[in-house]
Amino acid sequence: MTINRRDFITLGAAGIGSTVLSGAVPLCAAETCNGMPNLSLPSQPAELHIGCHQTLVAGKSFEEKLDFLESAGYDRMEVSGGNYEWMTKNVEAFSKAIKGRKIRYSNLCIGQRGNAGMADATERRAVIDTGKIVLDHAAALKAEGMILCPARKKIELPFPELRERFLSEIVPELAAHAAKLGVNVILEPLNRTETMFLRQVADGASICRDANRPGIGVMGDFWHMTFEETSDMGAFISAGSFLKHVHIASRKNRKIPGLDGEADVYIDGFKGLKLLGYRGAISIEAGYPKDTSDEEKKKLLIKAAELIKTQWAKA
Ligand code: MG
Repeated sequence: MTINRRDFITLGAAGIGSTVLSGAVPLCAAETCNGMPNLSLPSQPAELHIGCHQTLVAGKSFEEKLDFLESAGYDRMEVSGGNYEWMTKNVEAFSKAIKGRKIRYSNLCIGQRGNAGMADATERRAVIDTGKIVLDHAAALKAEGMILCPARKKIELPFPELRERFLSEIVPELAAHAAKLGVNVILEPLNRTETMFLRQVADGASICRDANRPGIGVMGDFWHMTFEETSDMGAFISAGSFLKHVHIASRKNRKIPGLDGEADVYIDGFKGLKLLGYRGAISIEAGYPKDTSDEEKKKLLIKAAELIKTQWAKA
């Protein structure tokens, strides 16, 4: 489908989004756009996969949590709940719980030891050694990979050296291990209060580009993006094919999406995901208001999935 100039004007900004959604090939033919970029949809259209951290789901077992998520319209669960040692103790239970189900594990959000930003080489080595353990578990669970925040809080190395050492010491070994297993190391940009090293999706993508090897990607977390990015859509587009995962939370208080009312708008970011043909998870990483009952938690997760679906359709 090609849009002529009159259609283009009639559609307006909202219409452009829905045209992208509908699977049109060129958004605007070059000859009718006065030289403006001719945005084409990817040959593989985006797919919506809604996920949630397992720790946010009420239930006594992983089975019970997976049952609930499936019934609530989720098709991904994010593996979380402890560090790499906790993961080693629980990998069999996770594996048993997912057998025979349509829902899948998205990623492992599991703490590694060490800090890539420290001057002490044993700190940097620990990121590799414990990261490999988590990657092994990610592969065993047929997840897409593990999330890595390279250097947070205390950073001793000057930034140029940190980036160089991260790229030359840590990424080659971790990414090679991930690629061998068919999974990814997924860099997560955080807020400036957590790390000044990696705050923006584009910066994570540029690390992936410089690494120039399989087994490494970047993610975007709407919570961090709210404060660190100038454009949700621009941030996602800048990641391109390096984008492997998305976190989502309410945009004022980092609660379940929808709890911050009118602030919880993700449509601009979803447009970016659609333009990329993104097929990874959009996974809730957030909290609940104090003293939320298990029944209320379930209701909030059902509503959040509905909100994500509605805004995805509008994007
Ligand atoms: Mg996050």
